Parts: sequence; structure tokens; C-alpha cells
Amino acid sequence: MTQLEAAKKGIITPRMKAVSEMEGLSAEEIRDKVACGRVVIMGNTLRNPVPVGIGEGLRTKVNASIGTSTDIVNFDMEEEKAKIAQEEGADTLMELSTGGDLDRIRRKILKAVTIPVGTVPLYQVAAEAIKRYGAIVKAPEELFFEVLERQVEDGVDFMAVHCGINRLSVERLRKQGYRVGGLVSRGGAFLVAWMEYNNAENPYYEKFDRVLEILKKRDVVLSLGNGMRSGAVHDSNDRAQVQELIINCELHEEALRYGVQSMVEGPGHIPLDEIEMNMKLAKKLSGNAPYYVLGPVPTDVFPGYDHITSVAGASLASWYGADLICYLTPAEHIALPFPDDVRIGVRCAKIAAYMGDMIKLNRRERDLEMAAARKNLDWAKQFELSVYSDEFKKIRSTRPPEAPDTCTMCGNLCALKAVKRMFEDEK
Ligand code: SF4
Repeated sequence: MTQLEAAKKGIITPRMKAVSEMEGLSAEEIRDKVACGRVVIMGNTLRNPVPVGIGEGLRTKVNASIGTSTDIVNFDMEEEKAKIAQEEGADTLMELSTGGDLDRIRRKILKAVTIPVGTVPLYQVAAEAIKRYGAIVKAPEELFFEVLERQVEDGVDFMAVHCGINRLSVERLRKQGYRVGGLVSRGGAFLVAWMEYNNAENPYYEKFDRVLEILKKRDVVLSLGNGMRSGAVHDSNDRAQVQELIINCELHEEALRYGVQSMVEGPGHIPLDEIEMNMKLAKKLSGNAPYYVLGPVPTDVFPGYDHITSVAGASLASWYGADLICYLTPAEHIALPFPDDVRIGVRCAKIAAYMGDMIKLNRRERDLEMAAARKNLDWAKQFELSVYSDEFKKIRSTRPPEAPDTCTMCGNLCALKAVKRMFEDEK
């Protein structure tokens, strides 16, 4: 029985209980949110990772993606990246390898971490189609499902499957005059090429029941992939993307009826003033399904700093309803990330999620405590409250102040100290 089926029957599972404790909500609330498709709890029944709940009323979660490419195949480095992502507090991990022995690297990563692990099965379909048949477009339809089954049986906890992209989406893309920034989703691009070459419908859309049947067996969460996501701010919220969103929302309802937990995926590159609209539209059309966004990236011209541009986008997205945000690293749009890129990427996404939750969940206690510690020049407390206290320590220890209760920014002219003395004298 899946978490969703249990919830519909009124059962509170141990995983629901664990999520309720982590989130500070009652187990009944979690159960009811799972039952109506507003919260998913990840965990392939073969693997049972740390329970992670994603959705309405819960803390915004962070995903880190790792994986080889066809140019750089280094399994040890990918394992190191996976471990760093978990150590830095990523809630979920996506293993997106496309180079080397894909079964072997996936199994290695599934063993390396205890957080839920997700995949994009289409990457493996494409890689195997090239190896066996010479081209992605020559992949037989059966391969799409065979890969899905193989990954489910390996213990993958969630899967981004591009079910919502269909012939109509391609037609919409053609009619609107393609795009300034092209089609950037690898999964989306593979499917469009396959559908055009074979003059056929997307197998994951046409045989959606079969996708559900495969995932349901091990309670794998379906992430309804965004193959039409915008890869440039000028293309955000265009007709092709909204068309796919509508289909994904319909498929979410179908999955819900079938007993499969699912979430809807979002963009991509969106300017700041369109983020609120996109989050609210997705939530409204899906009946408040968990919403998983990549970034969003609100400008295209800061490569090398997209871990920072995405903090602006993701904090707004989290505030307006995104439930899971995928990190970006300094290497985004430029190269395959290295371990240090992963570390900084996770930290940045955690900052965005935290800032969003301050508003969305009205959580400000830690900020209040920090303000008091700063006013009181209580450096030990400031260190304790710092989320990344290693950086705090590193910076302070490299430039120690003359007076230990101040810092070298103002030294003897410490504003806080001067005013504190004044108010204390008045007592
Ligand atoms: S020295 Fe300046 S920056 Fe440092 S604690 Fe005092 S007021 Fe703040």
C-alpha cells in the first residue's frame, strides 16, 4: 500500500508520524494532506530513506543534483558530491548521470546517502538508445518503460518523468515561433525529437497508466517533469510552458486517483515580477499539489553567479508557494559542477528556502534571537545561531579585533557598544 492509499483509508503510517515530528504538525494533519495530494512523503519501499515530506504547510525543501556527463565520468567524484550535498543539508538528491555505466553509478549513489534519491529516467533511455540503436530517436517504445522499471527496482525514491509534454505542446511551440532561448530541458528535447522522428505520441503521456502502475509498486513519487521549462527569462510563462503545466496538473489528479503520490514541476528562468504569478497559477491549477521548481533564475547574464541569482528567484518562489527548490551551483550554464560547487550551491538554496519560510510559515524566532545576540555583542551566541558557523568562525578568526567584544569593522567606534553604554548609563 502506498502512503497515499494508506492516508485515504485514514491510516497514519510510521513515515507520516516521522514527518509530523520533523515539521511540528500533527500526524492527522500530515495524513490528511497526503490523502488529498497536497503533501508527498518520499521513500521507495525497497530502500526506506530518511522520511522527507514535501508540500503545503511544510518547510521548503532543497534538492541537489549530481551526476556524470558524457565528457566527465568520475564515479568517486559523484559519490563525494552526493555526500557533500547530504552533509550540507540537502533534503533530496537527484542522480542525473548521462556518462559511463549508468546502472552502476546509480546503485553507488543510492548506497552513499540516506536522503531520498531521484532520477530522470529519460536520460538513461537516451544514453542506451544511442549505444544500442545509434540514435535517441531510434529508441523503441518498450525501452522507455523498461528503464523506468529497472530504476524503480533499484530503489529510486522519486522520478521526474516527462509525461505532460505531448504532440499538442510541440504544436504550441511551433505556432508561437519557437523561443529566444530554445528548449533547454534535456528530457524535453529528447522527447520532442523522438515524437517528431517517429511521428508518434509521447509514450509516457499516451500510456500514463503504465507509468503509474510501475511507480505504484514501490511507492515511488512521480515528479511530473517540466520538459517545456523556460531557459531564458524572455521565454518565461509562454504558451508551450503553460500548456504543459495544465496537462501535468490533470495528470496529477489521475495519479491521485490511482494511488500514486505526485508533484508538479515548474520553471526555469523567470523574471522577478512573474514568479508570484507562476507559483499561484501552478498551485491553483493543480489543486495545491507540491510544486518543485528549478531555481528559478531571474536573469540570464550572470553565469558564474547563478547560485546567487537563483537565491533571489527561489526565495520569492518559496514565499509564494514552491515546496521543493532545486539548487544551482556556480558552474550552472558553464560546466559540470565540482564538489566545492555543490557545497556552495546547497548553502545558497538553503538560504533561499529559509528566507521564503520566514514569510510563508511565519518562522522568525532564530532571527529574533540573533538580533538580541548582536545587540548584546554576545559573540558566542552569534556563532551558535549562525547556520553556517564555520564561515562565521573563519572570517572572525582571520581578523581579530582589539577589543574582544567588538569587531574590526568599526573597532573602537563600535556603534552598538556606544549606544548600549548610553542606555545602560540611563538605568
Ligand atoms: S564594530 Fe561595528 S560592525 Fe562590529 S559589532 Fe560593533 S557596530 Fe557592529
